[in-house]
Amino acid sequence: MSNAKGSRTVIYPCIKCPTSCEIVVVEREDGSLEVSGNVCKLGNEYVRKEHTSPERNVTTTVKLLGAAIPRLPVRTSCEVPKDRVMEVMAHSARVLVQAPVKEGDVVLAAVAGTKADLIACRSLDRV
Ligand code: SF4
Repeated sequence: MSNAKGSRTVIYPCIKCPTSCEIVVVEREDGSLEVSGNVCKLGNEYVRKEHTSPERNVTTTVKLLGAAIPRLPVRTSCEVPKDRVMEVMAHSARVLVQAPVKEGDVVLAAVAGTKADLIACRSLDRV
């Protein structure tokens, strides 16, 4: 929402604890942020990051050959920029893993050129 003075107001539900505070971020014309509605410092840190450079962990599955199931659950080793998530998914869709595989194995390093590796979430033997 834009305000009359040229500032922008966004309300974020804080996801850092079950209290779920609604935190208001007012972004001024000069780029400075005013944060209110948070009960604690964690919420302040969370919304500042969410407002300026949001990141997400990605979980998905990749093709798996030679195991009892055809898909291997995987996740990113760390958060990736939110606007790169679809790119990470597209790269993951091209991955083919051959069993056996161990939980924690890197199935794709630096996925989509990010700092995150794609990691196996479970171990599966060859059948
Ligand atoms: S601001 Fe603090 S108390 Fe409120 S939801 Fe976030 S972490 Fe919980």
